Amino acid sequence: MHLGHKVQQIDPVSKTVHFENGKTSQYEHLLTTMPITNLLQCLSVEDEYLKSIDTSEFLYSSAYILGFGIEGPQVEAYKDISWAYFPEKELPFYRVTWLHNYSDKVVPDISKHWSLLIEVNQNSVPKGATDQEILDMNEKAFRETGIIGPDCKIVSYFIRFLKLSYPVPFLKREEIIGKLVPYLEDKYQIYTRGRFGDWIYEFSN
Ligand SMILES: Cc1cc2nc3c(=O)[nH]c(=O)nc-3n(C[C@H](O)[C@H](O)[C@H](O)COP(=O)(O)OP(=O)(O)OC[C@H]3O[C@@H](n4cnc5c(N)ncnc54)[C@H](O)[C@@H]3O)c2cc1C
Repeated sequence: MHLGHKVQQIDPVSKTVHFENGKTSQYEHLLTTMPITNLLQCLSVEDEYLKSIDTSEFLYSSAYILGFGIEGPQVEAYKDISWAYFPEKELPFYRVTWLHNYSDKVVPDISKHWSLLIEVNQNSVPKGATDQEILDMNEKAFRETGIIGPDCKIVSYFIRFLKLSYPVPFLKREEIIGKLVPYLEDKYQIYTRGRFGDWIYEFSN
């Protein structure tokens, strides 16, 4: 098990994975969940078909993932909620998860703390906004909607930009993926799977 090793190159003929830290590993069959676009860039092999695939055709959305750790009373209306979608245009976030409702272990003291996991599409954020500005505009929206009550204080913040957030279907996807995935399996024993591994998400959560 090689934890924390970033794959830099894969030689599918000698079946060798080269990691960024200089280490290598041999395999018989390779199961990968990295984005298929990255996989194609990692493959080091003279293969005209693989080289002909234009990875810029693969569409995706990008998002900021925010976390708010909150001290204060939970708002009654949201006490039992797992997650909710917010399609309203004026709100920066599109989905909120009341994380402490999954486990009280995600907060220091469930009698006074609760937590939100917030997803914000990149397009809902003004270009060039800093992390602090993104946190502030979301806090403001949460306070205005009443999801965070006036007696609550945000005591911890988290923010991370996910360039690859959701795979977006595109017109030639089935054609490209339908040929590419079995090709990699049959010719190189590489099995690419998962959210971005085969670029299909519609049937998942
Ligand atoms: C904020 C958020 C909330 C979500 N909530 C839910 C939910 O409530 N319910 C639900 O069912 N799903 C949810 N999902 C979706 C779920 O997390 C994903 O669908 C699932 O994790 C996808 O699994 P995967 O194995 O396909 O990909 P990932 O979990 O993305 O795994 C891909 C792995 O490949 C690694 N990798 C990439 N490139 C390299 C490289 N060069 N070298 C080495 N490793 C590499 C990455 O580090 C990563 O660990 C959520 C996703 C997000 C972002």
